[in-house]
Amino acid sequence: MKLLIVEDESKIGDYLKQGLSEAGFMVDLVRSGLDGHHLAMTGDHDLIILDVMLPDIDGWRILRSLREAGKMVPVLFLTARDTVEDRVRGLELGADDYLVKPFAFAELLARVRTLLRRGASPASETTLRVADLELDLLRRRVSRAGKRIHLTAREFALLELLVRRQGEVLPRSLIASQVWDMNFDSNTNVIDVAIRRLRAKVDDDFEPRLIHTLRGMGYMLDLPDEG
Ligand code: CA
Repeated sequence: MKLLIVEDESKIGDYLKQGLSEAGFMVDLVRSGLDGHHLAMTGDHDLIILDVMLPDIDGWRILRSLREAGKMVPVLFLTARDTVEDRVRGLELGADDYLVKPFAFAELLARVRTLLRRGASPASETTLRVADLELDLLRRRVSRAGKRIHLTAREFALLELLVRRQGEVLPRSLIASQVWDMNFDSNTNVIDVAIRRLRAKVDDDFEPRLIHTLRGMGYMLDLPDEG
């Protein structure tokens, strides 16, 4: 699951990004209202954490413009303001929740999970399955044949991408941009190393093998053809 943080205070932004990444989420962080507005309108985030007081356009305007455009992505407001009027205004504009700074990270994480659960209508959307492989997107847990598999946040993101695009050949450049947030450099073997580690955890002790290498093209997760 992919989150967008719009926060101009760099300490808070960095802290949130790090904590949420460690909790297993993919996180985009922007520090201005205009960047936040642009990404919120064009991106495919599952949740937006939005600071209210931003130097250019404020969180209220971003939220109003999102809702006017019919974008119903859950929004959690983060703000130092804690007057009743501010809370009411945020909720009236269509914010889904409201957290006042300073806040405890554990509370933020709990609220993020609640909002994601509420936003995902059928329970099936929070679980991805291929054969006996199961990814619980909210708890960031993976199991195969009922056996729990421990993955790092990066490995989880890599596996989630492969599973979501099951049957598609994913070039290294796409994997690099989606999972590492970087441009692919053909001199690095970081992706191949990560795939090897992932395979060792997800495929080595199980049948059938799900992660396939297509030489010169990339990687693909799929069930083997019948027969
Ligand atoms: Ca601010």
